[in-house]
Amino acid sequence: MCGCCGRDLPRTTVHELGGTSEVYVCRRCALWMAARIGRR
Ligand SMILES: [Zn+2]
Repeated sequence: MCGCCGRDLPRTTVHELGGTSEVYVCRRCALWMAARIGRR
């Protein structure tokens, strides 16, 4: 399940966030979060 949008996704399509264990987000959310964090 994506920890961002809450969608139920298979483990193969989600990515674990670096430094944030047990938090998985889908690729789209990962990119969105990365961009959001990178902008600051
Ligand atoms: Zn998501």
